[in-house]
Amino acid sequence: MRCTPPRSPNLLLDRDGAAPGVTAHRASCEDAVKSGGKGAVGLSCHRCGEQFGKWEALEAHHLSKHAVTELVEGDSSRKIVEIICRTSLLKSESSCVRIERVFKVHNTQRTLARFEEYREAVKLKASKLPKKHPRCLADGNELLRFHGATLSCALGGAAGSSSSLCASDKCAVCRIIRHGFSARKEGKAGVGVFTTSTSGRAYESIEVPGVGGGGGGDDPAATRRALLVCRVIAGRVHKPLENLKEFAGQTGFDSLAGKVGPYSNIEELYLLNPRALLPCFVVICKA
Ligand SMILES: [Zn+2]
Ligand SMILES: [Zn+2]
Repeated sequence: MRCTPPRSPNLLLDRDGAAPGVTAHRASCEDAVKSGGKGAVGLSCHRCGEQFGKWEALEAHHLSKHAVTELVEGDSSRKIVEIICRTSLLKSESSCVRIERVFKVHNTQRTLARFEEYREAVKLKASKLPKKHPRCLADGNELLRFHGATLSCALGGAAGSSSSLCASDKCAVCRIIRHGFSARKEGKAGVGVFTTSTSGRAYESIEVPGVGGGGGGDDPAATRRALLVCRVIAGRVHKPLENLKEFAGQTGFDSLAGKVGPYSNIEELYLLNPRALLPCFVVICKA
């Protein structure tokens, strides 16, 4: 039997102390909005106490300093992430992939709101269809999926214990956490953002630039591979039989199934809208 990630990931994702932090952050933002964001006093970071005059500055500070926190070995959330990753690794070719570090992503209120707005849009669209899709109507058909991405900064590096995002556009992990997924950058073959049900497949899908002789300025050796464990609003899933591109233009669907495994497990799923993905954990791996 194939082990698939749990279908209601929010239960496990919001249990480990992130919620109070998020609430506090929202309070900070609301205070700033109330005072017009101009020269507001008492706008402080709930994590480190640093003071800010504008909520934009507080958000920028959050993104560079507190967007991710490491889950150390033994942490209950880390154990869950390890189980999610390892169960699927054992069933794939890449059983030699080793989990090095795990970080929890603290998304901003703005990012969370955008994700929820997208869910509502998918539910609304589903409600207007003659054929009812219960999962879409209930929660937009939320799934837990993997997305493989390159990491080219010191986040979780061996030297020291960096847990800050970099600002480089070339570092896919940090760019995605800062700015969200991009249809242009993560979209594959014009059919959307690629996700997998197994960590092994996600790991294999990562293309490290420069390795193929790209000649970019980056040092390929410094580029690591990471898995983003994402909450995904799959919506209505189209399951084309052969060529993905033939079906990409069809309307009414929110995602496209690539490879479908036994027991209808959608091993590869392309999200047509990059807003459908919310990164929740960063898992840094080593082959
Ligand atoms: Zn702070
Ligand atoms: Zn980075």
